[in-house]
Amino acid sequence: MTKYLISNCNHFTAEDVYFASRAIVNEGIVIFPTETVYGIGANALSNRACEKIFKIKGRPADNPLIVHTSSTGEIEKIADVRMIAHFQALSRLWPGPLTVILPSIGAVSSSARAGQDTVAIRIPDCNLALELIRKSKVPIAAPSANISTRPSITDSVYLKSNFDGKADVIFDAGKTRYGIESTVIMPKGDSCIILRPGIYTEDDLSEIFTKVTFSEDLTDSPRSPGTKYRHYSPSKKLYMPGSTEELIKIQEKFPDKYAIICVSETGQKIGGKNLILMGSMKDPYEIASKLYDSLMKFDLSPYEEGLIEPISGNGIYLSIMNRIKKAAIPLKEGEL
Ligand code: AMP
Ligand code: MG
Repeated sequence: MTKYLISNCNHFTAEDVYFASRAIVNEGIVIFPTETVYGIGANALSNRACEKIFKIKGRPADNPLIVHTSSTGEIEKIADVRMIAHFQALSRLWPGPLTVILPSIGAVSSSARAGQDTVAIRIPDCNLALELIRKSKVPIAAPSANISTRPSITDSVYLKSNFDGKADVIFDAGKTRYGIESTVIMPKGDSCIILRPGIYTEDDLSEIFTKVTFSEDLTDSPRSPGTKYRHYSPSKKLYMPGSTEELIKIQEKFPDKYAIICVSETGQKIGGKNLILMGSMKDPYEIASKLYDSLMKFDLSPYEEGLIEPISGNGIYLSIMNRIKKAAIPLKEGEL
C-alpha cells in the first residue's frame, strides 16, 4: 500500500522524512518533489531497488538514472571529480538543477548506471529531498516520476493515478518550482558539453567552464542515452507547426478541431475555447513551469488532436523547445 505524506520542499516533519528514509533503506520506492520535476527514488547503491524504478516506469534498461546526493563531499565518494578542473566551483550552481556525468568509482549500482562506467549526479535544491537523502544515509537514484515516454510530472495531482500501489511512499507537495528537468553536462577539465539543456543555461555554465558546447545529439546521434528515446509525449497526437504563423493559419482553417497549446500572446490573437496557455513569452520560467501541465491538460481535454506552438530563443527558451520537439510530431508547411 502506498503511504501519502502531505508536505513540500520547505514544510515537512521529521517523522515523515524518517518514515520515507526507512522505505529507501529497505529497498523501497519513494516519490518526492525536487525543484525541477517529481523524482521516483530508490537506494542508488542497490541493484534490486533501482531495478524496481525501471520496472515501474517501463524505462529501457540502457537509460541510466540520475543519482541525487546532499553534498559535494558525498559526490567525491562515488565519482572521480578530478575530471572537473574547478569541482568546488560547482557549489555556485548546487544545490540546483545541474547534473554532471563523471567516472563512477564503485559504490553506485550497475542498474542505476545502466551498466556504464560513468554516473550522473546532482544535488537537488529542495530541502525535503536533501533531508531524505541525509536521513537515508545513501545516495538516491531518482529519474523523473512518470511512465516512460510520458510527460514528467510537475503537479502532485497526477501522481496517484500513475503510481498508487507501486510506490511505497509518495510526498504530495503540489506543484514543483521549475517544471523542466535538470541541465545534464559532461565535464572534461575546463570544458563541458551540454547533453540536455535545462534551467541552467550556457551562460550560467560559462561562469565555471571556459568552453561550453552543445552535444551534437541535440541535433544528431545520442550521447546521453535518454536523449535517443521519444519523451514527454501526451497519449494523444500532438503536432508542432513550423512557426506561430503556421499555427494561426491551421486554427483559422479548422477552428475548434485541435486543442492549441500556446503562449498567452498567441492565445490573445487566436481567441477560442480550445486554448491551453503556457504563460507569457516574456517569462520563460512561467512557460517552463506550465509546459508539462499543459500536455497533461491536453490529454484530459475533449480534443482528440492538438497543436503546440514552437518557441524560439536561447537559454531557457531553447530548453523548452528541446522538450517540445521531443513531445510533438513536426509538421511540414501545409501538411494539415
Ligand atoms: P531523467 O532522470 O528521467 O530526467 O533522465 C536522466 C537523464 O540523464 C537521461 O537523459 C539520461 O540518459 C541521462 N544520463 C544519466 N546517466 C548518464 C550517463 N552516465 N551518461 C550520460 N547520460 C546520462
Ligand atoms: Mg525523464
